[in-house]
Amino acid sequence: MSEEKERSFGEELKEKLLRNQKSIGEAVSDEEIADAGSFCEGYKDFLNECKTEREAVEYMTSFLKKNGFSEFECDKQYTGGSKVYRIVHGKALIVATIGRRPISEGVRIVASHIDSPRLDLKPNPLYENGEIAYFKTHYYGGIKKYQWSTVPLALHGVVAKKDGTIVKVKLGEDKEDPVFCVSDLLVHLAGEQMKRPLSEGIKGEELNIIIGSYPFKDEKISDKVKLNVMRIIFEKYGITEEDFLSAELTAVPAFHAADVGFDRSMIGSYGHDDRVCAYTSFMAAVDCEDPEFTCVTVMADKEEIGSEGNTGMASNFLLNFIDDLAACYGEKAHRVLEKSYCMSADVNAAFDPTFPDVSEKNNCAKLGYGIVITKYTGARGKSGTNDASAETVAFVRRILDNAGVIWQTGELGKVDAGGGGTVAMYIANLGPNVVDAGVPVLSMHAPFEIVSKLDVYSTYQGFKTFLDSKMGGYPD
Ligand code: MN
Ligand code: MN
Repeated sequence: MSEEKERSFGEELKEKLLRNQKSIGEAVSDEEIADAGSFCEGYKDFLNECKTEREAVEYMTSFLKKNGFSEFECDKQYTGGSKVYRIVHGKALIVATIGRRPISEGVRIVASHIDSPRLDLKPNPLYENGEIAYFKTHYYGGIKKYQWSTVPLALHGVVAKKDGTIVKVKLGEDKEDPVFCVSDLLVHLAGEQMKRPLSEGIKGEELNIIIGSYPFKDEKISDKVKLNVMRIIFEKYGITEEDFLSAELTAVPAFHAADVGFDRSMIGSYGHDDRVCAYTSFMAAVDCEDPEFTCVTVMADKEEIGSEGNTGMASNFLLNFIDDLAACYGEKAHRVLEKSYCMSADVNAAFDPTFPDVSEKNNCAKLGYGIVITKYTGARGKSGTNDASAETVAFVRRILDNAGVIWQTGELGKVDAGGGGTVAMYIANLGPNVVDAGVPVLSMHAPFEIVSKLDVYSTYQGFKTFLDSKMGGYPD
């Protein structure tokens, strides 16, 4: 039996005045930990099925169709609870559930991205060197290039043929499939290579993917291995070398998502950034049955290369959708957007105890402490960021705390240690109050990134609460 101890004045004062943050693991019951685990089974399936933005859009669209969503139609009268979606060029997706309140009172937006760093094939990728056939690649997004050698790779994407047909490629995912690989120099002969700076351990033009080594048996031709590989590709996909010119083929890690740790508390996978926010916000959107405010969930493309292009958030695709939605009610997009709130849903860096020097311990996100609310990202003197207003952060604090969601705050590393951006600023440019929110990640942008299951679940709860909340914003 334990004795009730009287608390000292100092203890009471401490509780009243000082911030007390507990990890979710300490704060919640075993049942809630089990709930997080089962939620993450669905997430792992999503990770394994969707390694590119196109695959994510397809997966989500078929899920939406099965769950009562239909394609948005302009000029239709939608009522509260109506569920719609819009596909943007096959690579981005908007999901919306119409709220009870008039659209003129603003909408709730959660915006993530579904592209991840990877190795894209060059337009003219196929060549033979030393009787080995290769694909030349051009990396997509910010990567530590050396991490991408000696990793089994799968090939994903599409080939658009001149006749208008699209050939889908997904090879290296099934147990029976072959995989592909970038080689690295054996350590025995790497004396000179080991003197290179880490950024050049493997150089961009050394990210060449091995794709075959058997020759085509014919005395009269050269590049026999290249021809033999092209023969197999033609038999499988009906494409010729020229068709690579109009293809989007990409090499991604071939391994599947796996539980990490004896306690299975974490998930290791390719592409948590940002499919972890895409999945959690998507599930929150699907589970948002009859919201007060209209919920708009965006899964964008091109974030890893600067959000440019007609499927990136720097384009007008969200504005156009809000414009079309507003027009259904005789409203104007800018009036809706000015009254809207947005969670820019992207990952943040988790504190890595092996590399503590890049983080400032009072202001970094930690694994297992829940969804991270990030007031600003950017670099140096807050360059390249939406810096969320105090009122916006207070609004989100109220929503999360009222719902009992465990959350934390985090900056992306120490001041001047580096930096990074999200889609937050592009959405803020349209008028809404925006704040960054998402999951802390270890080894971000590596072929195998790590997240905590409790953080994934907390992020789902955070997005769901934000979308569902009846709470109006501060009067402007
Ligand atoms: Mn991201
Ligand atoms: Mn990223």
